[in-house]
Formats: sequence, structure tokens, C-alpha cells
Amino acid sequence: MGIIDISLSIKEGMITYPGNPSVTIEQIKDPASTHSKVTLGSHTGTHIDAPLHVFEKGKGIGELSLPLFFGECRVLDMTHVSEVITRSDLEKNTIQAGERILVKTKNSQRGFEAFYEDYVYLDGDGADFLTQKGILLFGIDSLSIKKKGDPDRRPHTSLLKRDIPILEGITLANVQPGNYTLIALPLKFGTIDASPVRAVLFTN
Ligand SMILES: [Zn+2]
Repeated sequence: MGIIDISLSIKEGMITYPGNPSVTIEQIKDPASTHSKVTLGSHTGTHIDAPLHVFEKGKGIGELSLPLFFGECRVLDMTHVSEVITRSDLEKNTIQAGERILVKTKNSQRGFEAFYEDYVYLDGDGADFLTQKGILLFGIDSLSIKKKGDPDRRPHTSLLKRDIPILEGITLANVQPGNYTLIALPLKFGTIDASPVRAVLFTN
């Protein structure tokens, strides 16, 4: 069984979504030990959005059902998409209830050393479609599922209204589309809106 790390490295100077806090890491050394003060936003790097991100009374990251975050998943090839993943792009993949769906786009190929305004994202109809299908989790290789500044909030709200977690900031450059086992466990933060995760795929 092979393991593929699909997480971004957390380090000072890494890219964050515009307006989000930068990462700082301060090492504190004494003669016997080293410890560190780490500051980062809840949406740093590879992370999962909880309903509280967009709903004032939504569940926090620690209140979501743990089994959502591990189990079978399918990576869909969306590398042909130039700007936005739509309902019709998704419909071609016979998505079933109970699936965890990750999308591989050209964002992964371009990498995450800089923030690019023209990242590939999911549109509102696409999000509604996935919600209606009854998937368990949705993942995308961009720091946000939604187009920057778009007034259509459904990419977040449609999924999170049904407590479908959104895994953002995964890197799939070395991942072939297909079936895997996903593990992406958030830290046990309780009622905050998101958490960084270490996301890995196991080949079946
Ligand atoms: Zn987020």
C-alpha cells in the first residue's frame, strides 16, 4: 500500500489567501529543550472548512462527524478545465451518494509558491449538484473553493449547509485520477471555523 502526501508544507513565507494571517514560527530555545510559538490562520495551507465559516450558528470543525474525514475517495480529472468547474463537468463522472470527491485541476501543476488570482474554482450550480448528490466531503487544489470576490456564495454555503466539509489547499500534482483512501483529520479545535489538516491518500 502506497501513501501520497497531498498536504502543503506549513512554513513562514508560505502563501495564504489574501487577507488571511501570515504564518510565523518563533523558536524558543533554552539549554534543555526547544519549543515554538506558531501563529497561523485557521484556513492556512491544506485545511478543512466547517459550516461555522459561513453560518453564524453552523457547526465548528470539532463538531463534525469524524468518519467524514477518512475513507474511500475518488480523485476526478479536471485538468482540462480552464477557469471554473461546472455542473456539467461533474455530471460526466457519475457521482454517487456517500462519495468523497477530490478534484485535480491545473492549479496543482502550477504549484503554490505564489497566489494566482485566476485559480480554478467550483461554481454555485456545481456545488448545488454535489450537495444534491449527497457526497460526504469535497476537496479542491486551491486555497478557496470559490472564485475570489464572487457574490455567489453557494460554493461554500450549499455544501456547508448540509455539513459537507470542504477540503481546500490540497496538492495533487503527483496523483493520478482514480480511487484512493483519504485521511484528512482536523485538529480538535471545537467551535472554530476551520482547521489545517495533514491530508494523505493511500493507494488501494
Ligand atoms: Zn477555507
